[in-house]
Amino acid sequence: MGSDFDTQLREVSLRVTQPRLAVLATLRDHPHIDTDSVFSLVRAELPGVSRQAVYDVLHALTQARLIRRIQPAGATAHYESRVGDNHHHLVCRSCGGIVDVDCAVGHAPCLTASDNNGFVVDEVEVVYWGTCPDCAARSIAQPPSSEGKT
Ligand SMILES: [Zn+2]
Ligand SMILES: [Zn+2]
Repeated sequence: MGSDFDTQLREVSLRVTQPRLAVLATLRDHPHIDTDSVFSLVRAELPGVSRQAVYDVLHALTQARLIRRIQPAGATAHYESRVGDNHHHLVCRSCGGIVDVDCAVGHAPCLTASDNNGFVVDEVEVVYWGTCPDCAARSIAQPPSSEGKT
């Protein structure tokens, strides 16, 4: 674990703790990971850590904007450490896979509301729903048998 994470934590006035460092390292290595997977990976590294402690760390890091929580409709919360660039996500309806997409026009907010009603908009969240290449290939190989497609 590098001192980069120490610096990041100190910059947002969070105490440097083993669970916080472990969560940051986990998200760096596994972008778009759900809460349970974060817990399993952190637990493997720090056997004493409780589920509640990991939740608390995820909450604190999200509040401090060191990590970002993404929760596509109908999906569980996922976390990533790529923050501050207003990037968006492709989400597969079939397997739930999540892939990064760069900001539509390069800087936040990359879409302009037709009427912002006086709000100062600094972030736009876009989810592109669809079928990932793997799932698309699988459905061609094994067409659903219950209903025939025309
Ligand atoms: Zn898929
Ligand atoms: Zn992302």
